[in-house]
Amino acid sequence: MQGIKPLNECMYCGTIEDLTDEHIIPLALWGDIILPKSSCKSCAEITSKIERKVLKGFMQDTRNVANAPSRRKNKRPKSVERTLLNQDGTSFQKTFSLNESYSILTVPEFSKATIFGGATIVQGINVIGHQQLAFGVNMFEFLEDNNAQGIQESTSIDVISFARLLAKIAYGMAVLHNGIFPREESPILPIILNESDDVGFWIGSSDSLLSESKAKHLVLTKHQKYSFSYVHTKSIIQLFNGSELEAFEVAVRVPNWKSIYENNFSLTNTNNRKENEFYFQSTHTESHSKLQTDGKITIKPS
Ligand SMILES: [Zn+2]
Repeated sequence: MQGIKPLNECMYCGTIEDLTDEHIIPLALWGDIILPKSSCKSCAEITSKIERKVLKGFMQDTRNVANAPSRRKNKRPKSVERTLLNQDGTSFQKTFSLNESYSILTVPEFSKATIFGGATIVQGINVIGHQQLAFGVNMFEFLEDNNAQGIQESTSIDVISFARLLAKIAYGMAVLHNGIFPREESPILPIILNESDDVGFWIGSSDSLLSESKAKHLVLTKHQKYSFSYVHTKSIIQLFNGSELEAFEVAVRVPNWKSIYENNFSLTNTNNRKENEFYFQSTHTESHSKLQTDGKITIKPS
């Protein structure tokens, strides 16, 4: 995408010195939108660390198999090891070249963000499940070729880093579409910059379905005006558009977010509401910050 005007200030801290170009969605996830001169070097260091934890963490295997863009493709391994299940249930290991293999991407599913009507989460984020996407070769053919009845996978997901990456994408996209706004009005900036861990209050999974498009990922920025006379901006992120993956939603701009957070309130639509009228609701739950998946996946063609 070309012709985007430079922001000429760091969207994260406001400095106008030492500015670099920012990929809104990481290049390593096929992101091609660049906001020129929009991040200073020290903020870029923080945000690249988030990206590394995700892209070189639980997404690495999929990125290798799916041949995702990378600045260091020559460092990519040539092969991957897989654990397959025999017909009798025992397992065996085998090495495959990248283009002979599948990869399963496990993506956490969160509860709804507190602000959008989910339970109150003051720390961490609630993982309520996980979703899996298959990349690479056709799984049925793969199993047949290897005379296997299933595969065995183990994944460890840094869910907080993943949520922070969603926050970074949501924030960057909102700035790209609407320009910079007062930084103190964003509840997710402290999360991106690792100064706060009230992640699940502002970030969660979404019921929204975005309209179809050919893009790899979709990000929709929405404004809503509440009866309290403030405008609030949220971004809905659909990763791997066209897959069954659920979207995520992120509260990007909420001018009085601190008082909402301190009072454990969420913005919930009333049933018999008038347009743009919302009420506050207070609830409570626990939170978790890590998801561990040890899964045996058996696939049987129907
Ligand atoms: Zn900065």
